[in-house]
Amino acid sequence: MSLPALSRRRFASFLGASLGAALVPPRVAHARRPAGVPDDAILLNSNENPYGPSPAARAAMSRAHEREAARYPDANEREVVEEIARHHGVSPEQVVLGCGSGEILRIADMAFLGPGRTLVVAEPTFEAVLLYARVTKAEGVKVPLTADHRHDLGAMAAACDARTGLVYVCNPNNPTGTIVSGAELRSFLDRVPRSAVVLVDEAYHHFVEDTGYRSATEWLARTPNLVVARTFSKIHGLAGMRLGYSLSSVEIARALREHLFWNNTNASVLAAALASIGDTAHVEQQRRSLNATRAELCAALRRDGRAFVPSHANFVLIEVGGDVQPLIEAFRARGILVGRKFPSLPHWLRVSIGTPEETRAFLSALRELVPARAVA
Ligand code: PMP
Repeated sequence: MSLPALSRRRFASFLGASLGAALVPPRVAHARRPAGVPDDAILLNSNENPYGPSPAARAAMSRAHEREAARYPDANEREVVEEIARHHGVSPEQVVLGCGSGEILRIADMAFLGPGRTLVVAEPTFEAVLLYARVTKAEGVKVPLTADHRHDLGAMAAACDARTGLVYVCNPNNPTGTIVSGAELRSFLDRVPRSAVVLVDEAYHHFVEDTGYRSATEWLARTPNLVVARTFSKIHGLAGMRLGYSLSSVEIARALREHLFWNNTNASVLAAALASIGDTAHVEQQRRSLNATRAELCAALRRDGRAFVPSHANFVLIEVGGDVQPLIEAFRARGILVGRKFPSLPHWLRVSIGTPEETRAFLSALRELVPARAVA
């Protein structure tokens, strides 16, 4: 994948941009364009990383493309599983690779739900797990977030009964960007009956800086009914390449694997994963850069007197004072794609963090389309 030429204007704003940004390549060109969306549209709709994969991951993908495209990737999968296991201090038998973490959510539904079973989730949250559950004929039990848009773990634990096959905790939560703390998660894991599997989705884990936050991976050893899902789509900038994974007990991993498609990954993304997973310097630099842009956006929203949910992820949910759907379309007409409407939060707009330049373009459009006084 080659980088687009850097325009003088973009280069200047790129150099002058927030902390750490001078080390970051410019945003990557996007081949995928919904119909009618111009090539230079700003994509702030899917919580992707606008800077794309690291230089090492790009080089590894090119090499794999050249040398390994003709062969089934069994050995590459084994190598990545072993590297992920080493990275997290677990055994390779506890790791399952998915075609994105979306596949992990899907196979968790397949393995632990079915007719007569329930899936307990927050409302709103990332809805894929609910959609896949429908196929199994399980019943979704939606537990509203608290008034400050956080998981109501007490109510979620209370919603679990003998029929519950799966409980989904998205931490940080999409679309709110809120987190549950390590202490909250730990006591929740103790309260959920062992007959239900707890799936903690940590797609946005790397963006969190709050010291009270903990990855659920800390409790894997003592929680046999826990699955943690991770992805290479967000901080690692590989959404188009498709790789995620789960960590769990060996028994749960075995149950998940039964629902996998054989060779569900590919040699290129596996090579990129090997180059990315241990690259803590790159991850840290991406986190600082994207979080600095998020801080810049939030400061401007605050100055404008707008309500928004303080976010721990690479997106922000902003109150817009009315139905968000026409606003989504008005942004689109200006060449800016923003997040979809979440039916239980119809007056809120989710915007992904882009480059500083993209994020400023979003802010100017927001100021035009929803003057600050309309929501203050
Ligand atoms: N979990 C969450 C919370 C997400 O927001 C997304 C995608 N936006 C996914 C999982 C799936 O991502 P992927 O399949 O690319 O890993």
